[in-house]
Order: sequence, then C-alpha cells, then structure tokens
Amino acid sequence: MGGVSPRLDDLPLRDDLRGMTPYGAPQAPLPVALNVNENTHPVPQDVADDIMDSIALALRDVNRYPDREFTALREGFAEYLGHGVTREQIWAANGSNEVLQHVLQAFAGPGRTAFGFGPTYSMYPLLTRATGAEWVAGTRGADYVVDAADAAAQVADAATDVVFLCSPNNPTGTPLGLDVIEAVYEASRGVVVVDEAYFEFAPRDERSALTLLPGRERLVVSRTMSKAFAFAGARVGYLAADPAFVDALRLVRLPYHLSALTQAAASAALRHAPTMLRMVDDIVAQRDRISATVEALGYVPHTTWTNFVLFGGVTDPAVTWQRLYDRGVLIRDVGIPHHLRVTAGTEDETTAFLDALASLESDA
Ligand SMILES: *Cc1c(COP(=O)(O)O)cnc(C)c1O
Repeated sequence: MGGVSPRLDDLPLRDDLRGMTPYGAPQAPLPVALNVNENTHPVPQDVADDIMDSIALALRDVNRYPDREFTALREGFAEYLGHGVTREQIWAANGSNEVLQHVLQAFAGPGRTAFGFGPTYSMYPLLTRATGAEWVAGTRGADYVVDAADAAAQVADAATDVVFLCSPNNPTGTPLGLDVIEAVYEASRGVVVVDEAYFEFAPRDERSALTLLPGRERLVVSRTMSKAFAFAGARVGYLAADPAFVDALRLVRLPYHLSALTQAAASAALRHAPTMLRMVDDIVAQRDRISATVEALGYVPHTTWTNFVLFGGVTDPAVTWQRLYDRGVLIRDVGIPHHLRVTAGTEDETTAFLDALASLESDA
C-alpha cells in the first residue's frame, strides 16, 4: 500500500504536497486480480515473439540515445487512430498518466486550475496538485450522467485552465456524449482533455472525440495502450491534438523520455493492432455478464462502456471487499458509498468473481 511514513513530516517537503496520499491501488498476489482495469488477457504468443525481435534489434543501438521525436511510433499511432490524424498531431509518453502530466505541466502549474466532473479518475487531482495547480471538482447528475447544458454552466463558472472529460468515465463506466464535449469546449477558454482510455470497449458505431479535433486547437484526445491493447506493463499512452499543442508539450518533457525499448515494443504491438484488440469483444461479453449477474444477485450495476462494472447496493463495501479478498478475488473499493468496482476478466476469472460474490449471501 502507498502509506506515507510519519518521518515525511520532518523533511522540507513542498507545503502543497503535505498531507497528500500517493496513488495506491493494492497490488496483492491473489489468484483473481480484477481491481485496476487491466486487460486480463495476455499478449498472444506470435505478437510477443515479434515484439521480442523488435526489442532485440533496438538493443543493438542502446548505447545511443533514442529518437527523441519517436517518429516511427507517432506514425503508428496516427495510422491506428485514423480520422485523418497526422504524425504531427501525436504525442506519447510512458503511460497516458505521463501524457496528462505533460499537459498539466504545460497548461496548468502554479497559480492555475484544473477541473473534472466527480467522481472521476483519481489521478486527475493528484497530477494537478503535483504540478502545483489547484483541483476544482464539478458534479454529475443522476446515474453519474453529465448533460451538455449543466456541464457548460459548471465549466464556465469554474473558468479553469484545464478541463478533464473522462469518456467513458472511470470509475463509473458512464458514456459521455459528443454534444457535452462541444458544449464544454465552447464554455471554456482553457484546454479540454477528453480521456478515451476505454474507448475501444464502447459500442463499435460510437464516434470518437477525434472527430471533433479539426478547428479546435485547445481540444486534446488521450488514449492508452494499457487497457484494450493489453500493454499496461509496457507503459505507453498517447494523445492527438493540434500540432501547435504538441509543440507545447516538447517544452516540458524530459529529453529522450521514451526509451528505445519502449518505442520498439509499442511500434511492434501497433503493427498487430487487430490481434492485440481481438480480446476486446470477449471482455465486453464478460463485462455484460457481470452486469446481468450482479443485478440478478440484487445489486445495482451502472451503465458501462468500459472493461469494468461499478455496482451499487453494497451494504458495507469494505466488508464485501474483504470477504472477496479472503476468497482470492481482488476488486476495487473506489470510495463511493455502497459501491464496488470490478474489472471484466477472462471467462474463468469472471466466473470466480461471480461465484465468490454469490457465495457471500449464504455466509452473511
Ligand atoms: C487506466 C487509465 C488511464 C491509463 O493510464 P496509463 O498511465 O496509460 O496506464 C488513463 N485514464 C484513465 C481514466 C484510466 O482509467
């Protein structure tokens, strides 16, 4: 767990970091780990072999600094995204968390502010405060939905330098309409970041916020290889935006921030995008099975377009979480009263979770 030692108080830490808690989703070696929305399917062997070959090749030149502009990788992302996105519009870093940090370093920072509709991704406030900026929390309507008029009013009122729109939203799974993004963009003078970390799990015919990029130079769409691409351990995230916006991020990144090995691995994985994404449909099927089954068990699953389900109707989330833990199943207490969140696993993992949850009734 990410506890902070009391001796931290004795160090000359920045005043604005005092009292903060680091990101700390438990990492426990349980048989069934469904707590951090990873893709529970491993990279297929043939793809893993090709990635290994690419890494081996990159290793031969590892005495040299990598391509600072990660040109081949940016081309790969542009091609993968489509929608006419070009290489000049792409930025990438070690996980989309670092991408978001770059955005905040360039556009937030001391004396500035960032905004999001809570409950939303817990890293937004942490990253915001770590850059010295202030976090402003907005609110959601019934069932965690944000509608365009209310969103625009809140964003205009908050007048922050950065707005985060998590689409679909973590930890609730809630979809976000493109009309909301358009309205928020009009209502804001700052940067609007649409975090599409889970976009590949949304219904196939849904439009991405990428289609809104032309003519909106303050709009950013971020993605990650951690979820749909089964690449969480490799740490690769990226965004698409106006080329001028990407130039701004060059001011804050560390030189050569993407290692040659990371670039090689990610480029190789992108060449196999259809194979890497083949498991998405299976995961979506397991997600829908979770929603249906927890509902049959008397819980209240929320609408989700992601690879996880947030369900309510839990009398005491801490107790239920612990009992599942004792049965070898790790899920997430995201701090929403009477709710728990579970990632869709393989069919077997999902069955293990559902069986464990069902067994709790009898041992109440
Ligand atoms: C998992 C997640 C990310 C991705 O994080 P990485 O740093 O790319 O692993 C970004 N945004 C949200 C909302 C997430 O849930």
